[in-house]
Parts: sequence; C-alpha cells; structure tokens
Amino acid sequence: MRIGHGYDVHRLVEGRELVLGGVKIPYEKGLLGHSDADVLTHALMDALLGACALGDIGKLFPDSDAAYKGADSVELLKKVCSLIYSKGYRISNVDCTVLAQRPKLAPYIPQMREILSDAMDIAADCVSVKATTEEGLGFTGEGLGIAAHAVALIE
Ligand code: MG
Repeated sequence: MRIGHGYDVHRLVEGRELVLGGVKIPYEKGLLGHSDADVLTHALMDALLGACALGDIGKLFPDSDAAYKGADSVELLKKVCSLIYSKGYRISNVDCTVLAQRPKLAPYIPQMREILSDAMDIAADCVSVKATTEEGLGFTGEGLGIAAHAVALIE
C-alpha cells in the first residue's frame, strides 16, 4: 500500500464560477485559476499522483498550456486515474478536507462524492469529502481564498 497527500489553494474573486468537487455552487465569488480552479479536485489529483510518485498536476497539466485554459478538473482527474491505473495501481480510498469560511458546503458534499467517485471509478463509500471553516482566521477565514487537503491510499 502507498499513501499520498495533496494540498491546493485558490484565490476567491468576483466574476468567476465556484466549482468544488465538480459541483457548481451558487456564491457571490468563484476561484481564480487557469482551469476551472476546482481546488478540491486539484488537491485530490496531487494526492493520487503523490501516492504513485508521479509528480503533480502542475507537471502534468501546465498552466502555460492553452489546452488547459478553463479545463474541467473532473476530466483531468479521469486522466490522472487512467495514468495510475495504467501503472497497475488501484485506489483504496481517499479523504479530502475543504477549508472555506463560506459558503456552507454540507448540502453539496453528497454530489461531490458521487462525481469524484464516478471519475475515479471507485465506490462512493471510498470517497470522503469534509468541509471546515478556520474560525475566521487566516486567508480562508477572511474569505480571501479556499484551500483543500487530500490523502489517498492506493494498492
Ligand atoms: Mg490548483
């Protein structure tokens, strides 16, 4: 068994859509980035790649490449899974935490788990997504950005 960890941050700005775990969430701001800036899916991909020691998404999908402008991160997750499955690995389970002061994410978590488990082709009960605030502290607490951590266990 092998374990991997991923971490990502994106800045919250006006005039962008908020996408987390493939779910479009109604909010006054969205995350800034070259792709759809889905910080949760980015952390998850880095955890999977980290478990296989296959680098990170910055290496695989460089933001200097116009092909990834506005990219759907769930589609990139499918590519990451194809790569790791082609190496003979299998995903046992993943656990993700989103750090956001607002909006409330609990209503969207079941849909995120469904989308992410479908993309990885594993059971939804092997995919955990949690959300927490940081009690108003730091950049997430002040609503300047959203961060996400993920760990992945592969065999
Ligand atoms: Mg990112």
